[in-house]
Amino acid sequence: DEVNIEEFIESTIDVHQLKHPDFEFTYEVSGFKTFITDPVLLGSLFDNLVENSYKYSPPDRKKLHISARLIKDRIVLRFKDAGIGIPSSEINNIFKKFYRIQNRYNQNGSVGLGLAFCKELVNFMNGDISVKSVVDKGTEFKIVLPYIN
Ligand code: ATP
Ligand code: MG
Repeated sequence: DEVNIEEFIESTIDVHQLKHPDFEFTYEVSGFKTFITDPVLLGSLFDNLVENSYKYSPPDRKKLHISARLIKDRIVLRFKDAGIGIPSSEINNIFKKFYRIQNRYNQNGSVGLGLAFCKELVNFMNGDISVKSVVDKGTEFKIVLPYIN
């Protein structure tokens, strides 16, 4: 399907803002307007990353910046939060199935599958997912996808 990225981000934000009125969003799009992808897979990816950002941010820092850019014929999506961050010793574990970092933000009902699923999704979409994080400052997930138009 042809996905309009700006509309897609806006509707993702709408849904999550209804669920969490205290969640603040900003976003930017540059270099492209639409691309061919599976909106259901893209939606699962967005929902998992957005939900994590909310869960793993302190009450007064629940904000997320989403950007979508066309860079060298690839789509680069970034999800940058101002949350609790991920210790560098854990960075290599977070994409593993059932892996969860023990902290007070872990909620009942989470199983530690979200990011493992995201990685599978992105691989299936012929893309890449990576993460940069600073403890107590925030986390940025970067997804690179092929640009098909
Ligand atoms: P589930 O997604 O299955 O409900 P989960 O959120 O604990 O459970 P993942 O989404 O796979 O599992 O994330 C794995 C771990 O990585 C989390 O338990 C959390 O400790 C850490 N993590 C994920 N996203 C963030 C984030 N944006 N900021 C800080 N820590 C994060
Ligand atoms: Mg999760």
